Amino acid sequence: MKPLLIIDAGHGGADSGGGSNHLWKEKDMCLGISRYQFERCKQLGISAALTRYEDETISSGNRAKLVRDSGAQFCLSNHINAGGGDGAEIIHSIHGGKELADIIAVEIKRTGQNVRRTFTRTLPDIQSLDYYFMHRLTGNVRTLIIEYGFADSPLDDVAQLKDNHLQYAEAVIRGFCLFMKHPYEMPKSSVKKEASLLEVLDSERSEIKSFLHLPRHVLRWRVYPPNKQPVKGNEIGFLRPGKFGGLQYQIIDKTLPHVYIIHTRDFGRVQIYAHPNTGATFH
Ligand SMILES: [Zn+2]
Repeated sequence: MKPLLIIDAGHGGADSGGGSNHLWKEKDMCLGISRYQFERCKQLGISAALTRYEDETISSGNRAKLVRDSGAQFCLSNHINAGGGDGAEIIHSIHGGKELADIIAVEIKRTGQNVRRTFTRTLPDIQSLDYYFMHRLTGNVRTLIIEYGFADSPLDDVAQLKDNHLQYAEAVIRGFCLFMKHPYEMPKSSVKKEASLLEVLDSERSEIKSFLHLPRHVLRWRVYPPNKQPVKGNEIGFLRPGKFGGLQYQIIDKTLPHVYIIHTRDFGRVQIYAHPNTGATFH
């Protein structure tokens, strides 16, 4: 099924992003925002996809292709700005997206973050082409670049982003629902109460050093390609802990709550769902 929305966490892997400072890396904050929005889309019944689930390097060309090939109608590309300003900015294509950008801007303002502007920009010499590759190379997918604030703001963005980035992430989803006329409900637990995704990422990184054990009483265990949603139907195949008296894998990374990246002999790098109630253990 084609997603309605594809969420792009800017940068990743070798590219930390310019919107970094001593408190965070842009790639991590963008991933936190994006995963949060992805989860919220699931809760709200909006079919969504992510360009990356993990701290992964993606070239500009591949990123644009992921968006183009997703079949989505909309893309939200999440970024943190740098350059000494203060406030959020939303950039839409010269070919459209202004209405959605303006609605999202209003929702961001309602959280208390100031919005500098929504705008569009062309290549200096070619007025018919968008300046940013995420607009120029993403085909028919209506893409917004959202800069949530400035990592090097002389005013209040640094404290605001650190504390409130998930509230801004929520505001964007609310704006998207308003634009789509899709029913919106507030998140069940208040966004403030949700652990900051930056802290979650930190704790996840410490989990990554451990081993995942699949007990032998489970005969088949689904595994999924790293770039697909780890849901039934998307599996690339099955591991067979029962056949081997249990199986053990080093955890390479984590993509979603209870979803890990492991390397398997038969399928290479895969995602696996291993909630403690599945019988999986870690050591
Ligand atoms: Zn960026």
